[in-house]
Amino acid sequence: MSNFIIRKVAVLGAGVMGAQIAAHCANADVPVLLFDLPAKEGKPNAIIDKALAGLKKLDPAPLAAKDRAGYIDAANYASDLDKLRDCDLIIEAIAEKMEWKLDLYAKVAPFIRADAVFASNTSGLSINRLAEGMPEQLRGRFCGIHFFNPPRYMSLVELIATRDTEPAMLDQLESWLTTRLGKSIVRAKDTPNFVANRVGVFSILAVMHHTARLGMGFDEVDGLTGPLIGRPKSATYRTADVVGLDTLAHVIGTMQATLPDDSWHAYFKSPDWLQALIAKGALGQKTRAGIYRKE
Ligand code: NAD
Repeated sequence: MSNFIIRKVAVLGAGVMGAQIAAHCANADVPVLLFDLPAKEGKPNAIIDKALAGLKKLDPAPLAAKDRAGYIDAANYASDLDKLRDCDLIIEAIAEKMEWKLDLYAKVAPFIRADAVFASNTSGLSINRLAEGMPEQLRGRFCGIHFFNPPRYMSLVELIATRDTEPAMLDQLESWLTTRLGKSIVRAKDTPNFVANRVGVFSILAVMHHTARLGMGFDEVDGLTGPLIGRPKSATYRTADVVGLDTLAHVIGTMQATLPDDSWHAYFKSPDWLQALIAKGALGQKTRAGIYRKE
């Protein structure tokens, strides 16, 4: 078995998940390059600044004692792609759109070493289809690495192999995630939404459809589906705001795209109110407006 040493991680996408995955790696003493879209016309990159500022709130204790700046460097695709050559593990965590991910892979692939690992944090897009976006010599080192939100506290990570993923690499990655990041691994097949989201999306829609028929409000539903049934803080609609309403709709859409035009197809349809919120840019906590906060 070849050496498997992760000296540096790159996270592509500094959104809800990317920023927190970066923070989790940094807290495990692994330096991170956190990439996002380049700043517009001389303005500072607001997204990445917000993400880095948010890390303080997310991870107060362990990193505060260290030089935070040395552990997470902000980077962008316009000027820093060369720095990917120093990274042993690249975790892609950009928006849940197949075409956007494939476009990005084409852009970054020339800068990724053949012995590095490249993994997508997709919630449920086909890992085999995503792998097709990588050049052949990198496909053995490509897999799905599905962290759950919030990644610092959620132990579960689903690992998903493609038909080309090197089994030894996946074993080594699993061992690193377990020992270094403290994660519990489930190996999932490359099926739409893998395991947890396949069940999760089915049940969140069951609650939404059923309570809508009963005419229940968001607060009432959350009152029933939160602490009362043993979920510490989050409930149905609060969770949706935390996940991001656009991401939730994409994950629902991944299921719907696999179904024939029958009653299940209608079941896996984002409710109209959800689509209306997304259309006006109210995407949940990340935009400070969503189901609960209306600004
Ligand atoms: P997000 O919307 O918070 O962030 C997405 C990031 O992608 C942003 O920083 C944005 O700048 C970047 N981006 C958007 N379009 C891009 C493009 N064309 N090229 C490059 N970068 C682009 O999303 P998120 O919630 O962090 O989700 C990221 C990934 O993680 C998705 O695949 C999602 O399904 C998955 N995921 C999300 C959650 C969750 O709870 N939100 C949980 C597990 C997995």
